[in-house]
Formats: sequence, structure tokens, C-alpha cells
Amino acid sequence: MWTSEPYLFHSRLSKALNLKLIDPKTVIQAATTAYHDGRAPLNSVEGFVRQILGWREHVRGISWLHTPDYLDRNTLQDHASFTEFYWTGETNMACLNDAIHQTLEYGYAHHIQRLMVTGLFALLLRVDPKQVHEWYLAVYVDAVEWVKLPNSLGMSQYADNGVMASKPFVAMRRYVQRMSSYCGSCRFDPAKSKCEDAYPFTTRY
Ligand SMILES: Cc1cc2nc3c(=O)[nH]c(=O)nc-3n(C[C@H](O)[C@H](O)[C@H](O)COP(=O)(O)OP(=O)(O)OC[C@H]3O[C@@H](n4cnc5c(N)ncnc54)[C@H](O)[C@@H]3O)c2cc1C
Repeated sequence: MWTSEPYLFHSRLSKALNLKLIDPKTVIQAATTAYHDGRAPLNSVEGFVRQILGWREHVRGISWLHTPDYLDRNTLQDHASFTEFYWTGETNMACLNDAIHQTLEYGYAHHIQRLMVTGLFALLLRVDPKQVHEWYLAVYVDAVEWVKLPNSLGMSQYADNGVMASKPFVAMRRYVQRMSSYCGSCRFDPAKSKCEDAYPFTTRY
């Protein structure tokens, strides 16, 4: 995660795939052809194909099996209301500020921002997973309910009791620091869990 780099190494293909403007098979063939022509390295192509053929199809299967009951799951019994700043980005936490502003401006955030910044903080705040799901559905241009539900309610909030992910995605205190450029400009210290400068992720964790 890098400030001022909303797209970084991501393809931005999800909206076209979800709207059926482009077929997953076409995308995968283009990537494997690039590999065979020597235009893309194996590790990049393998990761990309796995995202689409692996994750996206897995998510489709989960939706197929568990919708519509899926939406009502709340394994951790979280009932807090959604935080107002998710609609404005106005917070002193640099990671949330950046990920939310970017989301509201472009209708896009990549997977780790969704999972380990906005999703993780909502999980730590114990927000009602249905409200979290509705926020994700409202703000991203690639939002389609069959893809969104297993990702937001399942992977990000663990509301499905492990159908989508074997354990909750709850990070150790230094995760965001290690994986991003956010913490350098933040008034909070990720290493502190008490006192005024304590990083709210760390305190909540
Ligand atoms: C809380 C949360 C909500 C999400 N909501 C959506 C959503 O509404 N629609 C959506 O398409 N994706 C969703 N995702 C998955 C993922 O974040 C997006 O597919 C990805 O960020 C789209 O950007 P990209 O096209 O640049 O992807 P890249 O990073 O370039 O990945 C390539 C492609 O792999 C597929 N892919 C990768 N991971 C997943 C996944 N977990 N589920 C489904 N497809 C995946 C996508 O089709 C994507 O276009 C969500 C993830 C989380 C954690």
C-alpha cells in the first residue's frame, strides 16, 4: 500500500469482468500468452491467473451455495453502528484516511486496502457485518452482490464462521506499518497501545 499510488500493480479488471464486458477465459489466455511470448514472468502470471481462476471462481461457488442466507450471518455477534468517517475519510489515521479518500474519489481500492485497512478496522470496532457489507456495496465500482458478499461478510468480517476463510483476518499491530507507506505521516505510533499517540488498530487489537 503506497500513498498516491491507488492502483500500483493491480489490473483494474474487476468491474469489466463483473459487468461481463470481458470474459475470465480471455483475460487468462492473454496473460498465459504473454508468459509464453516472454513478455511476462512466470510468478506474475501465476499469481494473476490464481486470483481469477482460483479466488474469483471460489467466491462464485460460495455465493452459489450459500446465498441468500449468507447475508444474515453474524458469527461474532457484532452489533456496533458503522463509523461516520467511512463516508468522508476524515480521520487522523493515515491508512484509513488514504484508503477511504481514494475509495470515495475513484470507487477503487485494491484487495489489501479493503481487507486489512477498512475491513480490519470495522472488524476491530465490532461493526454489524451487514452494515459493513452495505458500505462496500455502495462505494466500489466493481460491487456486485455475488462477489461482494463472501468477501465483505465472509473474508473480511468472519461473519460466516469460516466458510470463506479458515480464520479471521485480524492483524498484529505492525502489519500496516510493514506493508505500507502510511505510518510515516501518521500522528499515531503503531507500536503503542496506550497513551495519546496509541494507534487505534493496536489498542483495539
Ligand atoms: C471486503 C472486500 C470486498 C470486495 N468486494 C469486491 C467486489 O465487490 N467485487 C469484486 O470484483 N471484488 C471484490 N473484492 C476482491 C478484490 O478486492 C477485487 O476483486 C480487486 O481489488 C479488484 O481490483 P483489480 O481488478 O485491480 O484486481 P487485481 O488485484 O488485479 O486482481 C485480478 C482479478 O482477480 C480477481 N480477484 C482477486 N481477488 C478476488 C477475490 N477475493 N474475490 C473475487 N475476485 C477476486 C478479480 O476479478 C480481479 O480483477 C473484495 C475484497 C474484499 C476484501
